[in-house]
Amino acid sequence: MKIVILGAGLAGSEAALQLSDKGCSVELIDSKPVFINSEVYSMEGPAELVCSNSLKSESPSTASFLLKSEMRIMGSKLLEAASVCSVPAGASLAVDRAAFSDAVLKMLNDSGNISFVKGGNITTVGALRSAYQADLYIIATGPLTGSEMLRSISETGGSFYDAIAPLVTLESIDTEKCFWGSRYGKGDPDFLNVPMTKDEFTLFYNELMNAEKLGWSELEKPEFFERCMPIEVIASRGFQTLVFGPFRPVGFEFKGKRPFAVVQLRAENAERSVLNLVGCQTRMKQSEQKRVFRLLPGLEKAEFVRYGSVHRNSFLNAPLVLERGVRVRSMDNVYVAGQLSGVEGYNESIFSGMWAAFEILNRMKGLENVPLPPKETMTGGILRKMINENGSFQPVNANFSLIDNPNDLGKKNRKEFYVKDGVKKFSEWFDLLSN
Ligand SMILES: Cc1cc2nc3c(=O)[nH]c(=O)nc-3n(C[C@H](O)[C@H](O)[C@H](O)COP(=O)(O)OP(=O)(O)OC[C@H]3O[C@@H](n4cnc5c(N)ncnc54)[C@H](O)[C@@H]3O)c2cc1C
Repeated sequence: MKIVILGAGLAGSEAALQLSDKGCSVELIDSKPVFINSEVYSMEGPAELVCSNSLKSESPSTASFLLKSEMRIMGSKLLEAASVCSVPAGASLAVDRAAFSDAVLKMLNDSGNISFVKGGNITTVGALRSAYQADLYIIATGPLTGSEMLRSISETGGSFYDAIAPLVTLESIDTEKCFWGSRYGKGDPDFLNVPMTKDEFTLFYNELMNAEKLGWSELEKPEFFERCMPIEVIASRGFQTLVFGPFRPVGFEFKGKRPFAVVQLRAENAERSVLNLVGCQTRMKQSEQKRVFRLLPGLEKAEFVRYGSVHRNSFLNAPLVLERGVRVRSMDNVYVAGQLSGVEGYNESIFSGMWAAFEILNRMKGLENVPLPPKETMTGGILRKMINENGSFQPVNANFSLIDNPNDLGKKNRKEFYVKDGVKKFSEWFDLLSN
């Protein structure tokens, strides 16, 4: 069986490794480095984490941990690479982005069954089929997929906006004015925290609100994904919204008292030489980013390695266009994986690549329509949303509202129960299908 995968991002790389592991011959094509969308991508290699270096929480009462636990049971290759390249980040799994991409490249090269074609820019499904003969195709071209490609799959797509946070160098920060630590002292002190008094925050807030932002074209309607809002959009909802949101000071003390607000900076690489301004994704002009973020105590001389930005994300209307979250209804041998298929987030995109491979492998065994993961599991919840959602479909990311697992437990115990029970049910389901 020969499978061609377009896009060596998170979903495409995971799918290629899963398929190759089971003996399929895979041709993996990426437009990088010849054609590179340099507004978002900056690396030549595969599996680039375009913004934050975090694969979210490893705390055992979180939705993201449940999703990763299920993916680990399924044998996710990219999560394996992530644990090898992890950098300290409190209770989260964060990686050195360059080391992560290198590790995935090595896995692709070592696999023996994957031929990795760099620099091919194919703009439609028809062009892909003409250029590369295969039994099955997976389109995994990500959230910035060109409009021609999107239209060649379906006319019923949607879009929203996503934002990138700025990066600054550690050596340009006056660390006397900040402190390393984690909220409530939990885990290792992996964040550099910038404490602010009310006066400092007020000045920052006013300048943020007044700063010049890049405009929207008349045709663009700015709809944001709630969990990746530009900082100025959050701030525009009221003076206190940042203080109750990304700048919340709870769980911190500086010089014996709780600051009015705390901005957290997370290491981007293993050497901690570059830091990400957590929650500071923005559409301010670059000169304004420099001026406004330099108002943060200790960042007066901050050197920017990357400025924040905002991008349009495209996705398919999964319930209408895709069978079981991956197979294109109108094209029997074409699958879609990753953010383009209607999931949102790094882990969710990796899972989608695994799911595409899992569905293809089952199809090869003559097992179509195997039962979905149980309704108590996170992967089951994500897939059911992509399959059954009625009305206006929005991209899905891991959260407990996707799970169907009634119980009488309190809020905290309930989450731990969801995770424990979800992992148990997922293992049972996976064991049954693997035997
Ligand atoms: C600006 C931005 C910031 C984001 N930040 C985060 C974040 O902080 N945390 C988070 O969890 N998620 C984030 N996301 C969402 C999402 O998780 C990532 O975009 C994720 O990388 C999606 O994985 P993917 O495999 O679908 O696509 P990608 O990882 O983007 O991979 C797509 C690949 O396809 C290639 N390609 C594209 N078109 C073609 C073509 N025509 N021919 C050949 N190759 C092609 C690209 O070069 C790329 O390598 C962000 C998204 C955007 C756009």
